[in-house]
Amino acid sequence: MVDPTTDEGDGEARRHQIAENLTRVRARIAAACVDAGRDPGSVTLIAVTKTYPAADVAHLVSLGVRDVGENRDQEAAPKAAELAAAGIEPRWHYVGQLQRNKSRSVASYASVVHSVDREPLVAALAAARTASAVGVPLDVLVQCSLDGDTNRGGAELSDVPALAAAIAGHPSLRLAGLMAVAPLATDPADAFARLFVASKALRHDHSDATMISAGMSGDLEAAIRHGATHVRVGSALLGTRPPLG
Ligand SMILES: *Cc1c(COP(=O)(O)O)cnc(C)c1O
Repeated sequence: MVDPTTDEGDGEARRHQIAENLTRVRARIAAACVDAGRDPGSVTLIAVTKTYPAADVAHLVSLGVRDVGENRDQEAAPKAAELAAAGIEPRWHYVGQLQRNKSRSVASYASVVHSVDREPLVAALAAARTASAVGVPLDVLVQCSLDGDTNRGGAELSDVPALAAAIAGHPSLRLAGLMAVAPLATDPADAFARLFVASKALRHDHSDATMISAGMSGDLEAAIRHGATHVRVGSALLGTRPPLG
């Protein structure tokens, strides 16, 4: 059931809980913007709904959230389809590591892909978006590795200019900016500061590539202090996820 207006009992309680969490997260974002001397309207909340059901996405959308993130195509594709069938069409952000063979699926429902970190993926996404029924370019972010450990995804900062140029060369893609996940071992503020420097360098050559996707439930304040335009928040909205099996 994805229509929140037909929820009873548990559905109403869940909606209330999500509404409270959303109020708290929005207050954190607003406070971080005040601290940073930034306009609260300059930061977009992306609700990351992985592991949570389509009904939770419906609650979030009914509460005013327009941007929703997922990290696995196997989960996101059916969720997006189920919601679209109910007339619920948020902007889907694909934030997880992406295999080339999933490009066609992801390009059919996503508005933004945050996780492009190698050239073969650029060509695959460009071809997939062209072949899709979607008439507008796919927004693409270059995911940056901020600790040189690219195993967890992300391109080395030295590879960003070439990747950006490759993306900008495809009419079915739009280079929108940069994304990063803070490394586990370092202070997230240092990492986000490096991301901001990389973003400035990117905007020198690509002035429209203004998105900085950084900050999650635990570190959104530090990300906003260092220029994040989009924060990706999951557990603070929906609860702690069970460990992935
Ligand atoms: C799960 C996830 C998030 C959200 O993380 P929380 O700590 O639950 O807020 C953000 N970004 C990416 C890439 C994710 O996979």
